[in-house]
Amino acid sequence: MWEREKITQPAPASPLFWRLNADVYQLLGAKCPDCNHITYPRRKICPSCGSFKVEDYQLSKSGTVHTFCINWTPPPGLEPPIVNVIVDLDGGGRYQGLLTEVANPEEVQIGTRVQMVLRKVMKDRGLDIYGYKFRLEKEG
Ligand SMILES: [Zn+2]
Repeated sequence: MWEREKITQPAPASPLFWRLNADVYQLLGAKCPDCNHITYPRRKICPSCGSFKVEDYQLSKSGTVHTFCINWTPPPGLEPPIVNVIVDLDGGGRYQGLLTEVANPEEVQIGTRVQMVLRKVMKDRGLDIYGYKFRLEKEG
């Protein structure tokens, strides 16, 4: 008889979930030694050339805005404007996230330098959930 599979994965709100999830907090991507393609999240097969030799790759926490979208009508509970960015990370790889600490979203352009910072992203069942966001790179 079929037995219901035990749920072994902790809830996303739990610190254990995030400690075990190296891809997210340690920013581990994958790099293909055959064609140098970098992917995030990690994959076991290179999506560019099909190689099985992909290796862990430490992503950078800084980069430039590849493209962005400003949302002036976000879902209930979120304050507009929400600036969603896709960032070309230094050293390779792309990361999609939200921009934070932006007084004027018009400052954001394609090619703007940004840095990844750890910030509260939401609240789940009474717990604050943290994740990466981007802020404009400070000059100097
Ligand atoms: Zn490859």
